[in-house]
Amino acid sequence: MVREIIYTADEIKARVGELAREISAAYRDKDLLVIGVLKGAFIFMADLVRALDIPCQVDFVRLASYGTSSVSSGRVALTKEAEIPITGRHVLIVEDIIDTGLSLSFLVNNLRSCNPASLRVCAFIDKRTRRKVAFEADYVGFSMDDGFVVGYGLDYDERDRCLPCVCIIKEGTDDCSVQ
Ligand code: 5GP
Ligand code: MG
Repeated sequence: MVREIIYTADEIKARVGELAREISAAYRDKDLLVIGVLKGAFIFMADLVRALDIPCQVDFVRLASYGTSSVSSGRVALTKEAEIPITGRHVLIVEDIIDTGLSLSFLVNNLRSCNPASLRVCAFIDKRTRRKVAFEADYVGFSMDDGFVVGYGLDYDERDRCLPCVCIIKEGTDDCSVQ
């Protein structure tokens, strides 16, 4: 298995800075609550909120999507709820990656039922061509086509989350290096 870098740490830092400027401007006079989706969004979320130049509160939810580590079955459940009440709040969901769109559609519908003042989604990566349900994020770090990626919070079987870059996994060899 070879990991090939597709976004370097420097490219990610620059893009996160751009997103943070856009989000800071959009929520300048609002009381922002950022909700990260565990575990994959933890590094992106940490960098993003530190790059904002407005204050915010942070919280986390956890989703379970059933299936193997690289193929989702379509069944999604909330296994950890947000702890800060979201009714009347300006909420920004921060997610690692959108693939079929099933996880975020589920989460957005779930949070919407609590009547936030506004609800937007920021995804680090968008795999636009793989949707099973229509879903558009409001802020997207990078768009890519097919392929399975790891690093910067994203895992393969709980490994590789702590890589500072994002790599695409190429199957079919025993080489485990990052190239
Ligand atoms: P969706 O419900 O949009 O199909 O799936 C989104 C979730 O599947 C992501 O939050 C992530 O956990 C997982 N996922 C989808 N594509 C990838 C990928 O390329 N790499 C990793 N590590 N996880 C992915
Ligand atoms: Mg995820």
